[in-house]
Amino acid sequence: MKVLVPVKRVVDANVRVRVKADGSAVDIANVKLSMNPFDEIAVEEAVRLKEAGAATEVVVVSCGVQACQETLRTAMAIGADRAILVETEAELQPLAVAKLLKALVDKEQPQLVMLGKQAIDDDANQVGQMLAALLGLPQATFASKVVVEAGKATVTREIDGGLETIEVDLPAVITADLRLNTPRYATLPNIMKAKKKPLDVVTPDALGVDVTPRLTTLKLAEPAKREAGIRVTDAAELVEKLKNVARVI
Ligand code: AMP
Repeated sequence: MKVLVPVKRVVDANVRVRVKADGSAVDIANVKLSMNPFDEIAVEEAVRLKEAGAATEVVVVSCGVQACQETLRTAMAIGADRAILVETEAELQPLAVAKLLKALVDKEQPQLVMLGKQAIDDDANQVGQMLAALLGLPQATFASKVVVEAGKATVTREIDGGLETIEVDLPAVITADLRLNTPRYATLPNIMKAKKKPLDVVTPDALGVDVTPRLTTLKLAEPAKREAGIRVTDAAELVEKLKNVARVI
């Protein structure tokens, strides 16, 4: 079974995100960029499926600028076998990414596509669902447990107020939630090995996909700064402040 894992290069989860002065976009100049954390979990799960004998090949794919190759190398250091970069300088919105991935799925014919549940930059939470719809395949989103057996995947999903377990026929699209696993660190020997693994580069044109944005961002703004807290001297002052000053935020 071949597993395809799309990985996005995003602003590192530990970096404070800043908006450009003109409010047009997030400022990524001189900012550390890393693999989207949910995609690391998806790569780890695919590699574990391979280690358990349920998968035979793990292919990682990233859509974006040339530097996404670094993210793909990281995924291969975790254990993916090969990588594909769909290289473009264009702004890629979720629908465009889903169409690019559909074109690759048509070509690669994986039995399983394992994505992150969402990218932490735009928090769209759309690509997995759109991809499943474009492909006409079953989807199991927000997975916290995946068992693959006999052409089916049994997936435990994180839903409001609990867990839901569903079974989907393969091929299928699964999106990884936080509790699915704890990704391993890429060791130095594996980082070195990953440098030699195959990495193909294609373009959206070669895949026959028009990636023109459909949505226009009007404005981006940072959240309002929180006011500093105050110290009260006694319970009476606290009650007075709660009555007259405190407000729900
Ligand atoms: P989103 O719908 O944008 O929140 O992204 C959901 C998932 O789609 C991510 O966790 C990735 O697995 C995948 N994805 C989104 N954008 C890209 C991209 N540019 N390249 C590869 N995979 C992507």
